[in-house]
Amino acid sequence: MEKIRRTIHATARELANRAARPRVDKKLPFELSGNQRISEEEMKERLKRPLRNVTLLVIALVLMAPVALPGATEQMARDGNPVVAFVNVNVIPMDRERVLKNQTVVVRDGRIAEIGDAAKVKAPAGALVIDGRGKYLIPGLIDMHTHLFSDDEFPDALAADELAIMVANGVTTIRLMIGTPEHLVLREKVASGALFGPTLYVASPQLAGRSYGRIFNGYVVTTPDEAREAVKKSKAAGYDFIKMTTNITRPVYDAAIETAREVGIRVVGHVDLQVGLHRALEVKQQIEHLDSYMEAVLKDDSPMKVSVSDSGVWRRPNWESLDYIDERKVARVAKATAKAGIYTCPTLTFFKLSFAVEQSDDEIRARKDFRFFPPKRREPLLVAHRRFWTEPPSAERRQIYLRVRNQLVKGIHEAGGKIMAGSDTPELFLLYGYTLHRELRSLVEAGLSPYAALEAATRNPAEFLKALDTFGTIERGKRADLVLLEANPLDDIANTEKRVGVMSRGRWMPEAELKKMLDQIAERFERDG
Ligand SMILES: [Zn+2]
Repeated sequence: MEKIRRTIHATARELANRAARPRVDKKLPFELSGNQRISEEEMKERLKRPLRNVTLLVIALVLMAPVALPGATEQMARDGNPVVAFVNVNVIPMDRERVLKNQTVVVRDGRIAEIGDAAKVKAPAGALVIDGRGKYLIPGLIDMHTHLFSDDEFPDALAADELAIMVANGVTTIRLMIGTPEHLVLREKVASGALFGPTLYVASPQLAGRSYGRIFNGYVVTTPDEAREAVKKSKAAGYDFIKMTTNITRPVYDAAIETAREVGIRVVGHVDLQVGLHRALEVKQQIEHLDSYMEAVLKDDSPMKVSVSDSGVWRRPNWESLDYIDERKVARVAKATAKAGIYTCPTLTFFKLSFAVEQSDDEIRARKDFRFFPPKRREPLLVAHRRFWTEPPSAERRQIYLRVRNQLVKGIHEAGGKIMAGSDTPELFLLYGYTLHRELRSLVEAGLSPYAALEAATRNPAEFLKALDTFGTIERGKRADLVLLEANPLDDIANTEKRVGVMSRGRWMPEAELKKMLDQIAERFERDG
C-alpha cells in the first residue's frame, strides 16, 4: 500500500506499478520522460498561487494547444439543433418507476420544452423530428467516478477525445475524482458550449498522508494544519468536492471534515482504516469503493483486523480475513449506511474484474473499448494483469469477496440507502463510457432491479450533486441530456447499450454519427496515444 504511485484504489496504472515494479524508486516501463506531464512540484506550485493566477495559467495552457482539440467535436457543441422533437416515443422519466407510452418530447435551446401524449403534443414546424416508435428515451447517464488518461502521462490534448467517448456511450455527466487545474478549464468549456463533452464535476486534488511517486496530483497532509490548508485552497480554486485518499490519520481527517464544513464543500472518497467506517458514517462522508467495509464486517473475535478494502486488496495475506466475515454484520453495516443518509458509489465492476473474476488476455483484447487504450499502455497493463493472476487468492475467497460486496450494495439499497454508479475508469482495460454500462449490469447482478440500477446512474447522482432540478430525470424544463434506446432497459439493463442516439445539451447525435466519431478517435489514439 505504501508503494503505490497514485490513489490507492487499485487503478490499473497502480496495478501495473505495483505488480510490474513493486519498488517506486525505479522508473515504470511505461512512464514517459518528466517533461510530458505536470510534476508534483509544479502541481503544488500552481495550487499555491492565487486563484486568478492558476486560472490564467491553465487557460493559457489550453489555448496554447488548440490544434489538439478535435475540430469536429468542438463544432458539434456549437451548432446544436435549435428544435428537436422525439415523436411516438416511450419515455422512462425516472421520477418514479413507470414508462410513459407514446409521447412527444420537444427540445428547444438545450432544454426539454414540452412533453406529453403524442395525440396532443405535436412536433413544432421546422423541428428535427426523430421517430421514437417502439423506442425508449432515458435521461443521459451519470458516471460518478472517472479519471482521464490525460490526468498524468498523456497530453492534456487527449482530454477532448476522452470526453467525447463518454458522450458517445450515453454518459452526459461525470465526476472526475482526482481533479487538476486543467479539469476546471474543461468544466467551463463544456458548460459554455465551447467543448463537446459531458457536464463535469471535479473533485479536488487528492488529500493523502503521503505522496505516491511522481504522478500524484494532490496534497500530502500529515498534520491538521496541512489538511485545513489543502481544503481551503481546493475550495478557493473552485473544485466541487474534497477528495480524500489514504494514509489519513484521524486528527488530519477530523480537521479536513471540520474545515470543509466551515468553507462549504463536501468530502468524498476513500476511508482510511485509521479513520474507520464508523467515523466516516458519523460525519456523513460520501464513500467510494465500499472502502473500510470489509474490515467493518469481520467477526469480533477475528484474529485478523485488516482485510481487503482499499489497498489491502493487493496483499495476499489479507485475503485470509475473508474466512472471518460475520454475515450478520453485513446487514447491520448496510443498515447503518442507509441510516447515515450517505450516497454509496461502490465501483463494483472495477473490483470484480480486477480481483474476483479472472479475465483472459484474449477476453480483454476482445473488449470493444480496448482500441481506446493508448498503445503504449497496453502491454504494461497486460503484464500487470498476468502477474496478479499468476498467483491469485483462492477461488473460494474471491467468491466471498464478490458476494459480500454485492450483499452490502443490495443491503444498503434495500435499507433505503442511495447507490450511485461509478466506473473508476480508465483502469485495467475498463474504459469510461463502456464501463458505466458494465457497472449497471453489476448492480443488477448484486440484486438491484434494473430500475434501481438506472436510478444509480441518473436521478441518485443528480440528487447527490444537488442538481436534480437541472438533470437526472426527463421532465419539462430540464436539460436535454437524453439517450434513445432500441429496447426497454427496465426489462433488461443491458438494453442501455442498444442506442439509437444520444442527445447532449440539446445536440442530437444519431448512432451512426457517434460510431464515426469513435472510429476517428480510435485512429488518433492509435497514432498519438
Ligand atoms: Zn478512482
